[in-house]
Amino acid sequence: MLKAKTALVTGSTSGIGLGIAKALARQGANILLNGFGDTEAALAEVRALGVRVAYHGADMSKPAEIEEMMRAAEAEFGAVDILVNNAGIQHVAPVASFPPEKWDAIIAINLSSAFHTTRLALPGMTQRGWGRIINVASVHGLVASAEKSAYVAAKHGLIGFTKTVALETASTGVTANAICPGWVLTPLVEKQVAARAQADGIDHEQAKRRLLGDKQPSMQFTTAEELGELAVFLCSPAANNIRGAAFNVDGGWVAQ
Ligand code: NAD
Repeated sequence: MLKAKTALVTGSTSGIGLGIAKALARQGANILLNGFGDTEAALAEVRALGVRVAYHGADMSKPAEIEEMMRAAEAEFGAVDILVNNAGIQHVAPVASFPPEKWDAIIAINLSSAFHTTRLALPGMTQRGWGRIINVASVHGLVASAEKSAYVAAKHGLIGFTKTVALETASTGVTANAICPGWVLTPLVEKQVAARAQADGIDHEQAKRRLLGDKQPSMQFTTAEELGELAVFLCSPAANNIRGAAFNVDGGWVAQ
């Protein structure tokens, strides 16, 4: 379905971003990966799906590096047809003791990076008459939790940004939507499981059940594969008129 399309997925060396990149690759899309950590393993996993794949190590907190990545994407693949803004970090602390440098980093990576990639991808998408912008927000773009002020602010901002982009592109073949996962068991959440186990003096498995029990009525983690399939759907013709929507995939979290 996506042969001859190119997808750039930010923060795609692990977790949700890698899951989305692989789902798009299974549909035939060429992939540009981004992120830190084990880049070789991520490249190998996507390459095994038989598509063209490249990597750019832009730090998403640095606008100049994002500009360089967008130029490299055009040079390597000729276009960015599908832009998945997924890179994100978390820090958990009460507002009064929240480190200002962590606030700045979360706003830069989880929110401002999507502005920079989008402003640079949009002219090509609108010129070609087709594009998909998929912003990986969170249930925390729809509701709040204590001790996650920067993350909640960034994700609410990202959903607002998604709506504005959707309105500005409403009469074109470019759509913009947000995906809002609940708990997904990725490295980002493993850190919170470990912190919960330590705080409550319980083991890892008990900590996972407590985290789910607090927020996610299904008592199941959402998977990166499920989110990847939603991204594929948003790239399909059936989604041509879905614009500015925010899809919660959260085991009932925000239904409460
Ligand atoms: P993860 O830690 O597995 O992946 C984060 C990715 O972002 C990695 O590839 C990492 O290298 C990359 N990254 C981090 N800082 C970066 C930077 N400065 N520049 C470039 N890349 C950078 O986490 P994840 O859980 O897969 O998170 C992916 C997205 O999903 C994030 O935006 C996160 O907020 C969101 N999300 C996660 C959950 C969850 O439960 N895991 C729930 C809702 C939303």
